[in-house]
Order: sequence, then C-alpha cells, then structure tokens
Amino acid sequence: MNIPFEDHPIIDRVKSRTPLFWENTIKLNTSSVLPTLPLGIKDIEDAQNRLDRFAPVIRELFPETRPRNGIIESDLINAAPLAGDLAEYYNTPLPGRYFIKADHALPVAGSVKARGGIYEVLCFAEEAAKKNGLICESDSYLALLSPDAKKLFSVHTLSVGSTGNLGLSIGVTGATFGFHTQVHMSADAKPWKKKLLRSRGVEVIEHDGDYTAAVAAGRRAIEGNPRAHFVDDEDSKLLFLGYSVAALRLKKQLDDENILVDDRHPLFLWLPCGVGGAPGGITFGMKHLFGDAVRCFFSEPVDAPAFLIGILTDFSGSVSVYDVGLTNDTIADGLAVGAPSVLVGNLVKHLVSGCVTVSDDDLFRFTALAHRSMALKLEPSATAGFIGPLSLFTTQEGRAYIESNLDPASVEGATHIIWTTGGSLVPEKEFREFLETGNRLTNTS
Ligand SMILES: *Cc1c(COP(=O)(O)O)cnc(C)c1O
Repeated sequence: MNIPFEDHPIIDRVKSRTPLFWENTIKLNTSSVLPTLPLGIKDIEDAQNRLDRFAPVIRELFPETRPRNGIIESDLINAAPLAGDLAEYYNTPLPGRYFIKADHALPVAGSVKARGGIYEVLCFAEEAAKKNGLICESDSYLALLSPDAKKLFSVHTLSVGSTGNLGLSIGVTGATFGFHTQVHMSADAKPWKKKLLRSRGVEVIEHDGDYTAAVAAGRRAIEGNPRAHFVDDEDSKLLFLGYSVAALRLKKQLDDENILVDDRHPLFLWLPCGVGGAPGGITFGMKHLFGDAVRCFFSEPVDAPAFLIGILTDFSGSVSVYDVGLTNDTIADGLAVGAPSVLVGNLVKHLVSGCVTVSDDDLFRFTALAHRSMALKLEPSATAGFIGPLSLFTTQEGRAYIESNLDPASVEGATHIIWTTGGSLVPEKEFREFLETGNRLTNTS
C-alpha cells in the first residue's frame, strides 16, 4: 500500500459505521493471479476426492446425510420471491436473477462450517488411521467405524477455539468419530451452543476473554501432545480447501439449472465474511472454474469489517477493527471477528471484487423478510449477503461499479447468488426472538 492506511479515502466512513459498497482497488485479472498462488485446482480436487472417500462413513455416522449419500451439500434455491420483497421493501429495482445457496441448512453443522470444519476433522482422522495401519487409500473407509478405530481416535485430541459455529462443526463431528474433542469458548458464546456440544460428549471449556483469547487457549491446550490437532480458524489451509470444494458442487447445480455464466452473464456471489476463510475458499474455487465472469463480494458487519481493513492494510497482520475505534460488537456472532486471516487474505486479495458492510438492524430485517417470503430459518449472521444487491444498485459507489464494469445487457443477464451461511440449528426460542426484532424493525421503518 503506498498511501498510509489512516489516509485511505474510505476510512472515515468505516469509522462512522456507515454501510458501504467498496470496489477492491487491488483486484487483478483472474488469469494473472491464479498461477502465482501456492494452491491450485489440484488441491481443490484432492479435497473433493477426500470428501468422496469419506462419504460412506459420513452416511453411517450422520443419518441426515443419507439423501445425498454422505455428501454434505446444500440446495441452490430460486429466490425470486425474496428478491421481489426486498425490492419492494427497500424501494429499488433489482435487475437480474436471484438464488440462495442454502448453507444455513447444511446437515450436521447447520452452517457453512460444515464444509471447512468437517473437512479438517476428516483429514485428522485419515492421518491418524493411516499412521496406525487401519486404512490405506484404496481401502473402504468403513473400517473407520470399527471398535479399533474408535479406540484409536479416543486417545487423540481435537481442539478448537470458537465463539460458535466452528466449535459446533468440529465438536459434533470430532466427538462422533470418537475423538477426545475440546472446544474453547469465549465469554460471549451462546449458552445453547455449549449445551448442545456437551450433550454430544464434547468437552467445553469456558474462558473469560474474547474470541482471540479462546483461540489462544485452544492452541495452548495441545502443545507438546503428538496425538493432538488444533484447528486454527485464522490460519488453516485445510479449512480453506474444504470450503473451496463448494465451487465444484455449485458448478453442477448451475449447469442443472441452465444458468449461463460468461462475460454477458456475470455471476455475482454475495458472501458473509468473518475471518475470510469460508468466503475466501469459495471465491478461490469459483475463480478457478469461472474466471472473471464470477464476481465475489464479501459482506461484513459495520462494527467488524475485518477483511476490508485487511485489504486496506495489505494484510500486514497487525491491524484490527479495534485500531479504527470499532467495537466488534454485533448480533452477527458468526462474523464478529476483529482481525482477518492473513493466510486467506494473501490468497484471495487480488480475486475479491469488493466488500460491503451491513448494519445489525438490516440483518434483523433480512432475517424476518427471508422467513416471511420463503420460510427460511436464518440466523442474522447468515443474512449478511442480502445487503449486496441492495448496496450495488442503491449506493453511489455501487452504481459507479456498474458503470465501469458492466453494460446494460449484462446487468439484466446477471445472476446473483446470496450465500446464506447458518441458522438451522438455532433453537426455536432464539429464532423467535430474532424474528420479533426483525418484524418490529420492518414494520416501523
Ligand atoms: C463462520 C461463518 C461465516 C464466515 O466464515 P469465515 O471463515 O469466518 O469468514 C459466515 N457465516 C456464518 C453463519 C458463520 O458461522
């Protein structure tokens, strides 16, 4: 970065918590970026193959995955009704076609973490089983269900620090495989998440501090233990690759729906972003398949725009949302992150088209609107993508982006996918409270 971060033209707006549309000023052509990266399409395919090898095991351990034969995947849902309601409520035309990628309903973990988190558990299980001669690559992995495997896994420890969804995905999967599984939770973690984990045999350790403190405790807990693995949300290639497999699966769904993606028919992805792992992995995968025709935007709370600040500081690793006077205090607990993943930032900073930010009030409104128009059960975090098209078509910066990047035909020919990232495991009582707040806000303003 050649201009100091504090002098960046948008920094005042970031500080003032104004929802914004920001076009990434360091984005480059996909074809010039991908060959320079340390990971490639082979790594994505390798991750997909591993998930395929494990599918028969997942199918047995998690009966809810049987309809897809042990493949944990979500539907691509036509969201025309919801787009119509959003257009009406926010009083703006929303040209193009609209879909929801329904990760809020992913089996086992109920969030996008089912992709990365579960994948990392499988990698650990595979490594331990191979090392101890339980399986080799050509075997059926069903041997992992044997009493011998259970015994082996029970002397291995999985540890993770989390405020919520990552802990749920690692905890539930790890414990089901038979690992000794520890989830280090921050003070603000929801009681129902701790309760659910404990009911599955997970050791939940509560800490007084915030997310960073919980992560540090999780890391410390396994130090010096050769049979332990720490899942590091801020620095994990495995999580990233697990997330990236979504692209191969989504491509099939787009083909099945006859959705064309090319220069004249751009595909916009609106992705909720915390540390950047999930949206980053998805972006990385989609760029390999669709190049410049896919445009990936990350959406963050106005109080926690960690990835945006990361790009502005070129992921130097030392700046957080606290440094610009923001609190990281948001209802979007899945996105309440002060600092981005430097690993992911450096992988995707030239691929991301831009960032948008969203207020908590709008997250509540989207939760209520999505339930009203399509009966979707989303948590507020999971609705962050809805701000994307609204921001694109209503802000001055969004319209400037259209002006310089799209012709009128491709605005009409575009497809927008709003990635809904969590919600189905939220207990009914908490969900009703989200809806009540959302309904109150949509009815009064
Ligand atoms: C974790 C999470 C995200 C974002 O993932 P990151 O890897 O932290 O960027 C988005 N939505 C929900 C609901 C999540 O739990």
